[in-house]
Amino acid sequence: MRVEAVVFREFGGPEVLEVEPVDISEPEAGQTLVRVLAVSVNHLDLEIRAGVSRMPIRLPHVLGREVVGEVIKVGDESSSWRPGDRVVVLPHVPCGSCRHCLTGSANICLNGWMPGIHAWGGNAEVMLAPTRGLVAAPDLDPVEIAALPIGFGTAWRALHHTAHVVSGEWVVVAGASGGLGHACLQVAALAGARPIALVRDPAKADFVKMCGAEEVVLTTDAGWPDRVREITNGRGAEVIIDHVGGANFVGSVKALADRGRLVVAGGHGGEFPPLDLIDVFRRELRVLGVRSQRPDDVAIALEMAARGSIQAHVAEVLPLAETRAAHELIDTRTITGKVVLRP
Ligand SMILES: [Zn+2]
Repeated sequence: MRVEAVVFREFGGPEVLEVEPVDISEPEAGQTLVRVLAVSVNHLDLEIRAGVSRMPIRLPHVLGREVVGEVIKVGDESSSWRPGDRVVVLPHVPCGSCRHCLTGSANICLNGWMPGIHAWGGNAEVMLAPTRGLVAAPDLDPVEIAALPIGFGTAWRALHHTAHVVSGEWVVVAGASGGLGHACLQVAALAGARPIALVRDPAKADFVKMCGAEEVVLTTDAGWPDRVREITNGRGAEVIIDHVGGANFVGSVKALADRGRLVVAGGHGGEFPPLDLIDVFRRELRVLGVRSQRPDDVAIALEMAARGSIQAHVAEVLPLAETRAAHELIDTRTITGKVVLRP
């Protein structure tokens, strides 16, 4: 099948992305041909395009990891999917048989498959997806659904399965106005926790409050950990979700309550922050990593959205032909919310 796709043949800036016709083969057993209705652009897409992602990318390549679409054709007749079914393609499809999958940690599967990384993704009119990587899409606007899986699936994993957050706990969320941040605020509030949003820009205060932040703390003030202690009556926060790293991580350790859980979900701001081990063992701090999401985390996020309990914030919707502009927009880091493409 010949369709339009956004292809790049070399790594580089947004200019390497070209809209051109490509051939998508017929689905084999285990595969489903999906018409793409909406696909989110993630920061990792920009890193893959630039050639700095440290992911196994084969050129030419088509990006697109958060895909909502409609089944065109299923490779095997035994499948319960039918043409016309609305589906979400999981951003991370675990193998189901490695030691992590078999022990409940499919999010760190040793042989996971990711659309837009291990194969061509959803920056196209049509894509081939593994059939076992499909979940039913809720009855919502595809644009809204495409903004959910990575941010909200990971937020659910981080708060419920990594931090084991309980009602009434103070939860500090770093980079709170971002994709993962605004999801963590909503999931924490939904759990009955008391979210504190960390933001750099005071203009983001209203947005993070709308997402459930009880307090907003500006990280442009180096004394922000003291402000967190003030808010928490001197105790510090029981849970901190930090996907920023660097200086923010150093502040997070200071702002963490004794026996508190510091969840590390990324480190763009610096991957080697200093950590005082005396602080860690005397105060019994727990530093916990979280990586992506399991399929059930995505399923829960979709269900929560269908019930109206959570909502992804979409900043911009652009046609596929404007994928370069979408990348430029994300690169500025000034937008609040997701950028979604509609083929
Ligand atoms: Zn696995």
